[in-house]
Amino acid sequence: MVTAMPNVQGKVAEFLSKPRKMLINGKWVDSASGKTFPTYDPSTGEVLAQVAEGDRADIDQAVKAARAAFDTGPWSRLTASERGRMIWKLGDLLEQHLQEFAELETLDNGKPLKVARAADVPLAVDLFRYMAGWATKIEGNTIPISVPYTPGAKYLAYTLREPVGVVGQIIPWNFPLLMAAWKLGPALATGCTVVIKPAEQTPLSCLLLGELVQQAGIPDGVVNIVPGYGETAGAALAAHPEVDKIAFTGSTEVGRLILQAAAGNLKKVSLELGGKSPNVVFGDVDIDSAVAGSASAIFFNHGQCCCAGSRLYVENDIFDKVVEGVSARAEKIRVGPGMEKTTDMGPLVSEEQLNRVCGYLESGFSEGAKAVVGGKRQGDKGYFVKPTVLVNTHDNMKVVQEEIFGPVVTAIPFKNTDDLVAKANNSVYGLAAGVWTRDIQKAHRIASQLRAGTVWINCYNIFDAALPFGGYKQSGWGREMGHDVLELYTEVKAVCAAL
Ligand code: ADP
Repeated sequence: MVTAMPNVQGKVAEFLSKPRKMLINGKWVDSASGKTFPTYDPSTGEVLAQVAEGDRADIDQAVKAARAAFDTGPWSRLTASERGRMIWKLGDLLEQHLQEFAELETLDNGKPLKVARAADVPLAVDLFRYMAGWATKIEGNTIPISVPYTPGAKYLAYTLREPVGVVGQIIPWNFPLLMAAWKLGPALATGCTVVIKPAEQTPLSCLLLGELVQQAGIPDGVVNIVPGYGETAGAALAAHPEVDKIAFTGSTEVGRLILQAAAGNLKKVSLELGGKSPNVVFGDVDIDSAVAGSASAIFFNHGQCCCAGSRLYVENDIFDKVVEGVSARAEKIRVGPGMEKTTDMGPLVSEEQLNRVCGYLESGFSEGAKAVVGGKRQGDKGYFVKPTVLVNTHDNMKVVQEEIFGPVVTAIPFKNTDDLVAKANNSVYGLAAGVWTRDIQKAHRIASQLRAGTVWINCYNIFDAALPFGGYKQSGWGREMGHDVLELYTEVKAVCAAL
């Protein structure tokens, strides 16, 4: 594989010029084995940088460092306010380095630079600021207790909400920086220490974030970053007996492996997994905005979103119009390298993803689906797939049931509300859903009938640090962001004193 220096300057060029090390106990170190692995630029398939390849021994060192920082280190002695200020500073530093992070994200993941600049980095900054505020607001309760078998006795009973301890965090490749922020922010706010394993496809922005963690004054050992492969480093982290909790975002298939690995010491587990989210358009809509929203529901981030609106259900009478509109938009999307100004959609993250998405397209065609637009790879260099709208699909097809994780939407008409709700809920997943209608009663009624962790009404892909995100059914366990995430990173201690 060729290594080519992409057209970047300054800090990013310098960052890419050397093999990247891992962060353990405040030091940037090589892997114990001395091995490195390549990370690729998906727009060319060429090697972008070499990265230290963590495995069991490195995970072990990182967990020891996180354990010491939690059990005896300065972290646990800091006040909540001091922790909060450090997290806020991390957000400020990230904002100051927005351009570098956006470039690195684009080069490593493939997404358009304008998207990384407008969405990935600012959302991560905002997440840290939001979580900085929570550090001083994590409270227990005082509880009036009656204790029927000790008549006359008085007690003072209260709860403490304490950090869960050492947390292993396994990060996906679709929003590498942002997903690291979603996990790191609440862990730091609650006083946990962490070992992060970024995805092998996209380790770079997380490693650069490690430099800012140090600049923010967060003590050594609190945040350890061990890049490496899932089956080795990831599996070792999930199974480690000294880890108190594992937080994972990725495929449902790997989520099951994480659960099995976590069973050894019964560590706490939170999972943010796959989806096959229905996006529902009723006949009474303003067609232009529903079309624009439905196109961006699937094509944002090249469909590589666990909550992508990948099943488009449209009421019979406007089905053709909506399909035509979404297809016209798909055709106008400029697919190209993320670093180019004109690009609206970049390459998929890897050759594996390219093959997977093309495999699903073939499966759809073999079962009778037809592509109104797209339906194939673009070019023969880089991992580009044309935005695709499939019709002639029905509920039992693989392309309608399984998560494709690419720019492919299946469009299916529906007759009435009952028909729609049954179709929309006919999935093993339950991550998100979209509803487009002008009828507010219908909108809220359908929102309550959909089995999904998020329902967007007349919008899609709206995220905020204050809004919890997570899945019903096989889409996951627990909620990230909002105050709900604090439950994932804390234990409740009941204290009862006889007066
Ligand atoms: P995808 O299938 O979309 O590439 P994965 O679920 O495989 O996504 O990857 C998400 C994250 O999980 C990555 O950081 C990856 O390295 C990690 N991972 C993959 N397999 C395992 C495993 N067996 N144990 C722990 N982590 C894993």
